[in-house]
Amino acid sequence: MQAMIDANQIYIKGSLPHAWLGVPFGEPPLYGVVVVQSYSEHLSFSEKDEQLLCFVARHIRNAIERMQAKSDLRFLALHDPLTKLANRSLFNDRVNHALNLCKRDKNRKIALLFLDLDKFKQVNDNYGHHIGDLLLIEVAKTLKQSIRACDTLSRLGGDEFAVLLEDIGSIDAAQTVADKIIRALQAPFMLEKIQILTSTSIGIAFHDQSENNIESFIICADEAMYQAKQQGRNRAVVHKGIEQSQRISANTLEKEAIKGLLHRQFFFVFQPVINLASGKIIGAEALVRWQHPSMGTLLPKAFLNDMQHNGSVVQLDVYTVDLAIQHLKKWQAALPQQFQLSVNISALGFGSLTLLEAIQRHFDRDSKLFCHLSLETTEESIVRGVDITRAQMNIFSKMGLHLALDDFGTGYSSLSYLGQFKFDHIKIDRSFINEHYLSAEQSVILESISSLARSLSIETVAEGIETEHQLALMQQLKCTKGQGFYICEPLDELTFLAMLRDDKNLLLIN
Ligand code: C2E
Ligand code: MG
Ligand code: MG
Repeated sequence: MQAMIDANQIYIKGSLPHAWLGVPFGEPPLYGVVVVQSYSEHLSFSEKDEQLLCFVARHIRNAIERMQAKSDLRFLALHDPLTKLANRSLFNDRVNHALNLCKRDKNRKIALLFLDLDKFKQVNDNYGHHIGDLLLIEVAKTLKQSIRACDTLSRLGGDEFAVLLEDIGSIDAAQTVADKIIRALQAPFMLEKIQILTSTSIGIAFHDQSENNIESFIICADEAMYQAKQQGRNRAVVHKGIEQSQRISANTLEKEAIKGLLHRQFFFVFQPVINLASGKIIGAEALVRWQHPSMGTLLPKAFLNDMQHNGSVVQLDVYTVDLAIQHLKKWQAALPQQFQLSVNISALGFGSLTLLEAIQRHFDRDSKLFCHLSLETTEESIVRGVDITRAQMNIFSKMGLHLALDDFGTGYSSLSYLGQFKFDHIKIDRSFINEHYLSAEQSVILESISSLARSLSIETVAEGIETEHQLALMQQLKCTKGQGFYICEPLDELTFLAMLRDDKNLLLIN
């Protein structure tokens, strides 16, 4: 030390100690030395002093470790361990705080963005959870760069993130941030030499002094995010208030829907299907409704997507087949010979063993009404599993059930499916015919579908006929059956049954 002092490498303020004793403690990054110094020439340190200092150093180390563990725990309680972002609990707290500030200062505006990565499950399935985790970490970094330091970014769980934008001027400003995020996440990520492409769907809720509480504010953003998914993903949707409030939060829905099925809260309305030449009712489509205990009657768009999401739609399919058979039994005496009741079956349910077994049980008990039952499903069933769908369809056909391909024209619309899969009906989606004037190309496509179906002995049903013009067009194309608001809206059971018994020509009523 004296040499360093002599070389002016260190300066001593005051005098140098006569003796000193030091005990190191800890390990990097938390370590140090406890030192005592003596300035008296008569006092030097003994072995006992050293022991005492070791004891003190150990206590200091323990105290620091305890503080560190406490602060780690506090961090873990409030942050997501993978991305180190705020977790749901911290996020909710920040949103609550921001809402309280808004109550005091009426000029303050805040917005919530709810983000869900599109097709994240596929990344996990294709490349494993390790790459999935790396993607979440990189997404978190990208999101951080797209927002201001004062905004709160959170990972709510899985592939869901949320941003609280404080003091945001307008909905447009929130939309600009969302657009920036969407663009930033479109750039490919390189993860361990694998290029991953992702995108996100964003729901935006804007707080504008209406009596928002935290729950409704969060539900609004969540609903808008689902809307963004439904509209084709990779986009942001601003919550429009009441219009979307029929959708129930996905978290509570799963439990409620299962309870609803147990308590038989789902029921049918029936939309007549007529013979387009005679105008007579030759069948009906059973359309499910949920008599929700607190929200009233819900349409499928309010719950079907979530039920598909969490898989409970398969139970709904089993339920609706069961319900349809109950109705057919009740109506038996009034049923015309060719009458068919169509039930919609989800793509998930159509290929499932659960539905097959349920139908098999009905078949074993009593199959004589099966000729009046038709199962409608969409091309999504085929795409989910070509071989399974073909095998299931063969079994269903052998049992005497009719099969219909629903919403033809909205999905893949592959004409080759018509040859490969034995559908008895195809239902031409209303989007095909709902334009005022069909383009020449659309007319040609419709004509070819109709004539191909005829040559394969498949009947065509026109869905969603809303005008006289559309009705005439479908008759001209020799489409055999039709349904739609112009002919008749979906009806409750008693009204439908009365109409069926009357056997009127529905085309003359209009
Ligand atoms: P979908 O099978 O294509 O059913 C036709 C939908 O169009 C029904 O809506 C019906 O009310 C509506 N509709 C009928 N005529 C017209 C018209 O002229 N114009 C317009 N704009 N719409 C018309 P809904 O009842 O809301 O059902 C929507 C979808 O929900 C159905 O589409 C079907 O995919 C699904 N769905 C309905 N019931 C069930 C069910 O019991 N189980 C399952 N898994 N899905 C169901
Ligand atoms: Mg249908
Ligand atoms: Mg349809």
